[in-house]
Amino acid sequence: MQKGSRKESASMIEKKINSLGGYGLFASQIFLPGTLLFTEKDWYADIALGGWEVHSIEEVNRFPESEKEMFLKYSFDLSFGKTMGTFSENHVHNLTNFLNHSCGPNTQFDGQDNIIAKGTIYPGDELTIDYGSFVVNFDQSFQCFCGTSHCRSRIKKEDWKVLSLNPENKFPKFLSEAILLSNQIPV
Ligand SMILES: [Zn+2]
Repeated sequence: MQKGSRKESASMIEKKINSLGGYGLFASQIFLPGTLLFTEKDWYADIALGGWEVHSIEEVNRFPESEKEMFLKYSFDLSFGKTMGTFSENHVHNLTNFLNHSCGPNTQFDGQDNIIAKGTIYPGDELTIDYGSFVVNFDQSFQCFCGTSHCRSRIKKEDWKVLSLNPENKFPKFLSEAILLSNQIPV
């Protein structure tokens, strides 16, 4: 891991209200393709503070609807079947929680659990990632208005299968490994 460059990059990213009225992350400097923006240490920093839980798909589906929605809001999948999330915004601190979705993103995972610049990112640009590249357990409840020519509108838990056909797309470690061993993926 390029720890030094990550620290430098992270200080050049700001959390601000975006055009849709929610929080988003914005670059305050140029980032060239491949620049390391976040490592797994960034989101595990929140988990170390407590209040985050791992649940199976079946467990999450048994939560009351409002609890399920809150749990999934900042959740991320650890594997096929297991998702980490929290029931309170009080446990949400790290910048990585506010990285919004786009169907034409300017960041992506790197095949490990780091997030890198996918294209050139200019000062003032909102940082985005394709949620379909790491979501495998639950369809997303929001509708996408990213405005890109390939906008899929709804983000589904199966989107990674199509995204994996393009060798330029990269995924978190668990999903990269599953794609490599595709005969072991549950269908
Ligand atoms: Zn979209």
